[in-house]
Amino acid sequence: MPATPDIPAHLIRRPRQGGLVVPWITPATPDGVALFGTVSDVAQHDCLLRSLCQICRQPLSRRAVLFARASDLGHACTAEPALCPPCAAYSRHACPMLAGRRTQYRATGHPALAAMPEGADAALRRAAPAEAWFPVWVADYDVVEHPARPGTLAASWQRMPPLRIRPL
Ligand SMILES: [Zn+2]
Repeated sequence: MPATPDIPAHLIRRPRQGGLVVPWITPATPDGVALFGTVSDVAQHDCLLRSLCQICRQPLSRRAVLFARASDLGHACTAEPALCPPCAAYSRHACPMLAGRRTQYRATGHPALAAMPEGADAALRRAAPAEAWFPVWVADYDVVEHPARPGTLAASWQRMPPLRIRPL
């Protein structure tokens, strides 16, 4: 698997770092270093509540992908905002966690993150073993509070059965 997969046409104009498209949801330091693997709460809420793709920020159509960890499946929700299908296809090869190139979450915060507020999810992820990911294809989702993570919004498919769930 190449480390820098081909970039889909609709993402050509997005900023890149290390050959990878920087997702819209990914925060950056004041001098522009993208903090891959972190998510700002504001951006996460914006994507979830307005049904926007977390990579390209386009409105989602009737087919979207939620990337859920094994531990999310029992709750039928994930804190990761949805992706449009082309961004999901790109991300499963480009994102080190999804592509299985990293076996553990970073044990400490990103070095460039020292001056930035930490997202609600960050402490939970830190140094946890990397879990398997499951793309959950949905036509729609509800925004709920994640049952296992008080204060964290999540996209839920509890009320609307997903179109498909299959491990990566
Ligand atoms: Zn997209």
